[in-house]
Amino acid sequence: MNSLPTVNPWIDQLAPYVAGSAKAPGHAHPVKLSSNENPWGASPRALDAMREAAAAAHRYPEGSATILREALATLHNLDPDRIVCGTGSDEILQLIPSLYCAPGDSVVYVRHGFMVYPIAARRAGAEPIAAPDTNYTADVDALLATIRPDTRVVFLANPNNPTGTMIPASDVARLHAGLRPDIVLVLDQAYAEYLDAPDPDGALALATTAANVVATRTFSKIYGLGGARVGWATGPKAIIDNIAKVRAPFSVSNSAIAAATAALADQAFVATCRAENNRLRAELVSAIEGLGNHGLTAIPSVANFVLMACPTQGPLAAPAIHAGLMARGFITRHLPGQGLPHAVRISIGTEPETRGVIAALRDLAAA
Ligand code: PMP
Repeated sequence: MNSLPTVNPWIDQLAPYVAGSAKAPGHAHPVKLSSNENPWGASPRALDAMREAAAAAHRYPEGSATILREALATLHNLDPDRIVCGTGSDEILQLIPSLYCAPGDSVVYVRHGFMVYPIAARRAGAEPIAAPDTNYTADVDALLATIRPDTRVVFLANPNNPTGTMIPASDVARLHAGLRPDIVLVLDQAYAEYLDAPDPDGALALATTAANVVATRTFSKIYGLGGARVGWATGPKAIIDNIAKVRAPFSVSNSAIAAATAALADQAFVATCRAENNRLRAELVSAIEGLGNHGLTAIPSVANFVLMACPTQGPLAAPAIHAGLMARGFITRHLPGQGLPHAVRISIGTEPETRGVIAALRDLAAA
């Protein structure tokens, strides 16, 4: 008789989420360009609010983060009762398939997409199905062709991580129009603030008007609060209420609520980070293009990172570049597990960090 606990077979198939490394051997202070964080940190106002909130660390937070939901509703012109906050947007993304899928159903996402989606599907016992993309960009026709009768949830990150590409609002609308109304479309806008538009792909608008669309956002990227773990979603009241039912009680801490609310009030900081990011991203892209004769290309990015396609062999193959940058103190991301064995993802750093990684790339190419 087997006396050991037996894990659910669908969990057994799961590969754990592997976060980007924070260490480069031999470098006490490496430059971390592996997790698409904000290299300028968070708004000083958010940090002050966080310190103040520490005084109430012995109290549980207000359970539904009302202050934060109201601030989000004001900024984005939404209904606060149709917003739910979570421990990062990850918490919310992870819960959605468990609400709408039975074991054996399917969840569709884009190949070269965010690795949390297949994990979220498997957690619910659902089968994750990757739709093909075109030139590292979501392909609406391919997505629609991948939908099966048992598909319950579709995930689309727009801009997408790890490719940095984006499809326009018209394509998002076409995707929505082509889906059965019983499928939940999750539009993940983690990097939306890097575009200079309040709702660059129309996800918030769609989540307001459609009965089956949820839009998610995060404070981990342009707001510089990845360590505070706070994200949010908006959508139809029924779906938001269902997410709220299953999220962990008090999943957003006092300090996270305070920091995120203060961060929202400092849109000047957001605008500065966006402008600096986009200027330095252009520098990195043109430096990579300048190395085109070495077989390196930059996938066009609208986010705070660039996916660099590398030759399949030789000294500038992706594993060699990743290791070479690491040896020079720059931590980047090689993602063979996401179907990208021949690419390296480089997050945009501060000006000295970005120029440093450019110099290191040129150094590797010259070797
Ligand atoms: N969506 C995408 C596309 C991401 O890249 C990330 C972070 N890597 C997230 C969601 C999750 O962010 P968080 O849980 O920190 O809000």
